[in-house]
Amino acid sequence: MRIAIAGLLHETHTFLPHKTTVSDFRLYRGDQMFEHRQMNTSMGGIINTCEKYDVELLPTMIASGGCSGIVYDKTYQELIDEILQRLAKIENSFDAILLSLHGAMVTETIQSAEYDILKRIRDLVGMEMPIMVALDLHGNLNQEFICLTNGVFGYHSSPHTDCHLTGERTALAMLNYLKEQTNPKVTFKRANLVIPSVFSATTLPPAKTIMDRVRYWVEQSEVIDVSFFFGFAWSDVEQLGASVVAITDNNQDLAQEICEDLVKLSHDLHHELTTGTNIYSVAEGVELAIRKGNDSKKPIIILDHSDRLNETTFVLKELIKQGAKKAAHPLLWDKEAVKLCQKSGVGNKITLAVGSKSSKDGGGPVKVTGKVLFVGEKQYIGTGPMRKGSLVNHGLTAILDVNGIWLQLTERSNSLIDADPIIQFGRELNDFDIIVTKSKTHFRAVYEEAGEEIIIVDAPAYSPVDLSVFNYNNVKTKLYPLTTKEIKDII
Ligand SMILES: [Zn+2]
Repeated sequence: MRIAIAGLLHETHTFLPHKTTVSDFRLYRGDQMFEHRQMNTSMGGIINTCEKYDVELLPTMIASGGCSGIVYDKTYQELIDEILQRLAKIENSFDAILLSLHGAMVTETIQSAEYDILKRIRDLVGMEMPIMVALDLHGNLNQEFICLTNGVFGYHSSPHTDCHLTGERTALAMLNYLKEQTNPKVTFKRANLVIPSVFSATTLPPAKTIMDRVRYWVEQSEVIDVSFFFGFAWSDVEQLGASVVAITDNNQDLAQEICEDLVKLSHDLHHELTTGTNIYSVAEGVELAIRKGNDSKKPIIILDHSDRLNETTFVLKELIKQGAKKAAHPLLWDKEAVKLCQKSGVGNKITLAVGSKSSKDGGGPVKVTGKVLFVGEKQYIGTGPMRKGSLVNHGLTAILDVNGIWLQLTERSNSLIDADPIIQFGRELNDFDIIVTKSKTHFRAVYEEAGEEIIIVDAPAYSPVDLSVFNYNNVKTKLYPLTTKEIKDII
């Protein structure tokens, strides 16, 4: 059996100030794709599973991006063209294609890059070629895209600790299909809910409640796979919103029933999924963290979930204003500031403006005075549950002691999802009363256990729970709570 593999992943935030270029993607060409064997990626799961069953894999290219602004058309075309050219060059026929995509990639002129990818691959290989796709659970999906696949498989966990497992599910379903052991029937249904990512944490309700139901359905007979996609809220696209995909073995009615059940459950939980509870203003959250941090054994975690660039200064300003001590503010992205710290040198005191350099929406740079504790290039192999085995590169990194605040500045933008950005610099998590993260859900894999409590603050930029700050021009349907405040309008 011969299976071609390819991937193109990007989570596009269409309201971010900067567009995404080729340099924002990590490219694995040809045999380099096999580096994913060691990684917690869906492509890693696809490769390892296929090899376990002696499938001959035909690698093309995988381009892996993170979350950033709209992808330049030119960038997208360059990447998809290379994948298509490599697919076209495969000698002799092959039996299927397995893809690793995200589900929320948008270019300057293409609202659903995933649909376009499938369409262009279908134009090349025809409608008969079996194609299955592993996706992120934050995809905004549409029926047109689903129809061009023989099945899609979303992560079941956010934090995304199960990317590899999702690849395994995808590959196994394909192998069973190719061996004619199953006849997959795929059903798709939109939930018409717009869910901020902070409420998609599957370790706690309401998202856990949904995933528990997904797992219940997966265990039923005749069910091949079920995915609930929470969508990606900060994307001005027609297909915005949560959705469900159910795949059964030749039982269309059952697939339909599963989709309807999960959509109904999400509607029952609409308030918790879209508005949440215990979301604090930055000032309230910082005050609470300082108060609780004083006598807790483990650090209090401040979750500044709204920052997509790792550069906003709302929380840092408030920590300084309220006189926080033993507070860690890791991974503030500011390439100019790290260079100034390098010039100043370790052991010296420096006054400089940090953060919010790429856009005025980030709260504006904040003036700090501190002692330089560290300056140097920093890269390492990740040890956390999501980045285990992957190279993590912060670029030039500086650490300042700003009157009791451990402020880490980096040349490259990264968010705190595990302990590495602290422990790789010789500190322990318990050295701090407060730790700030700008992750959404991924940090929970480590910090639910490592932290005493998680305090969620809703800062204004760039991905607040309050979606009314953005103009959604491409949304055509009624979506709760974006274009209607009445849940009955979408049911
Ligand atoms: Zn995601």
